[in-house]
This record gives sequence, structure tokens and C-alpha cells, in this order.
Amino acid sequence: AAKRTAKSSVQFYSTALREASQKRMEMEASLRHAIEQGHFELYLQPILELESGQITKAEALIRWRLEDGSLVAPDDFIPLAEQTGLIVPLGKWVINRAGEMLKTIIQHKPSLKVSVNLSPRQFSDKNLVSFLKSVVDHCGIPAQNLELELTEGVLIDNFDKVQQLLNDVRKMGISVSIDDFGTGYSSLAYLQKLPIDHLKIDRSFVRDLDTNDSDRAIVLAVIAMAHSLKLGVIAEGVENRQQRQFLLDNQCDTAQGYLFSKPVPFDDFCQQLIVESSQNKH
Ligand code: C2E
Ligand code: MG
Ligand code: MG
Ligand code: MG
Repeated sequence: AAKRTAKSSVQFYSTALREASQKRMEMEASLRHAIEQGHFELYLQPILELESGQITKAEALIRWRLEDGSLVAPDDFIPLAEQTGLIVPLGKWVINRAGEMLKTIIQHKPSLKVSVNLSPRQFSDKNLVSFLKSVVDHCGIPAQNLELELTEGVLIDNFDKVQQLLNDVRKMGISVSIDDFGTGYSSLAYLQKLPIDHLKIDRSFVRDLDTNDSDRAIVLAVIAMAHSLKLGVIAEGVENRQQRQFLLDNQCDTAQGYLFSKPVPFDDFCQQLIVESSQNKH
């Protein structure tokens, strides 16, 4: 009986695996198709300076628009894009689109920056720097208006290579943030050694700021460390006034979150900038 059970469970697993790999292949095919057809949209989420309440930056966040009009969130396709290498063409589309948006945005607000997320595979693409240069040239925008967001996972890969690449990116004038800071496993030593401009405190530390003493301690420590290394700090996932007040009281520089705005389509973001500038005049 034991033999039969073992055999049927093997069969069960192999069926489940076959179904999973079938599903993955279908998903990969539709992702490929969507890239060819351009079924993506780049949303922008405002990032505000806490002290002034002004929008100083926007994070570019990709969405996949299905034929039925619904949106797929990046967490549901970026990992597959990363595994299959499709992230490279997709990421190029994102950078290009961000450049085009900046071209319009800086006519309203010349100092505004747009940050773009890069996953590890994109970062190991040896054409990244020349691609960034071509976008900046083609769009006719200052490289200073563009920022890259990297997770700690990118940094532990190959330190010398990463350092060289970041130096090249920085030399162009593009700035660099470490995204989801505090959730990775990399050594803190890299913060000192790499040319980095900002740390983004992961939203898991911000969520329970009102009630959780250890989250508060971590956030304070990150702010203090960042400032002593001359880095800016961005808090992610700010959803209420108490969180904003705590961050403001403790010298966090900038913040992003649903309290201010969800990620929105380009036109809506421009509308927010227009409203802001009309308020500044009054
Ligand atoms: P991320 O870079 O850490 O982006 C922040 C995520 O937090 C976004 O999710 C944003 O919508 C969400 N968020 C912002 N404020 C709040 C808040 O107050 N509350 C809550 N609950 N969530 C908030 P989104 O857009 O679903 O993106 C998820 C992740 O997908 C991103 O995390 C990033 O790692 C990745 N991603 C998005 N766009 C791209 C892209 O163009 N390229 C690459 N490589 N990755 C991307
Ligand atoms: Mg990000
Ligand atoms: Mg993040
Ligand atoms: Mg994240």
C-alpha cells in the first residue's frame, strides 16, 4: 500500500508541476505578446518634501493593461519578466516612457525628478549606461531629473561591477536610491562605499509606526544613519497623518504614500502639479 501511495503522490505532484509549468508558459507568451503590442502603462506616484508639502519627485510604476481593461499589478508579472529576461525590453520601455514624461513635466516644473525601478537583470545589462545616455539625449532632458531605484539584492551581486556601473550612472548626473531599505541582507558597508543618494525606508517599517516601538526605533536609526552618511531619506507607504507627523518630527526628508496620492496615470499627475502651482500663487 505504501508503494501505491508513493506512486500516486508522485503522479499527483507531476500533474501539479505540469499544470504549473503550463500556466507559466502561457503567462510568458502573453507577457511577450503584451510587450510587442505595448499593453503597458506607466503610472506616477508623487513624492513630497515633508517640510514644505511640495511634490519634488515621482516614482514611475508599471501596469499591464489586459484586453478586458483590467490592470495587472507589477508584483504579478515583474518576477516572471525577470526570470525570462523579458524585463530587459520591458525596462527599456519604462525608461523611455519616463524620459518622454519628463520632457513634458519639466516644462511645468523644471526641478521635478522621476525615479525608475531597476531589477537585478536590467542592472547587469552591459548596455544600460549607453541606453540611459541615448534616452536622455533623445528626449532632450537633463540627466539630473532622472533617478534609479535599486534594491539591496542588486548590490550584493558583484560589488566591483556594481560600483563601476553606479559611478558611470552618477557621472552622467543620474541619482540613485536604495529601494525597500531594511528588507535585504546586504552589508551596511556598501552604503559608505557606493555612490548612493537616497535610502527609501520600506513600507513594512512605516505601516505600524503608531503602535510598534521597534518599527519606530528602526525608522529613527535609518534616518540618523542616512543623514550622517549625507544621504536623503524617503519614507514609503505613508497612509495616515500620524505617520506623516512622526516622520516630519524626526527629520525624514520626503515621503510617498496613499495619504498624499496613489500612483496615477500621467495626465492625473500633471493635474496635481498644476493644482499645486496654482495654490503656491495664492
Ligand atoms: P516599489 O518600488 O517598492 O514601489 C512601491 C510600491 O508601494 C508600489 O506598488 C506602490 O503602489 C505601493 N505603495 C505606495 N504607497 C503605498 C501606501 O501608502 N500603501 C500601500 N499599501 N502601498 C503603497 P506597485 O506599483 O504595485 O509596485 C510593486 C513593485 O513592483 C515595486 O515596489 C517595484 O519593486 C516593482 N515595479 C513596479 N514598476 C516597476 C518597473 O517599471 N520596473 C521594475 N523592474 N520593477 C517595477
Ligand atoms: Mg521603487
Ligand atoms: Mg519600495
Ligand atoms: Mg517594494
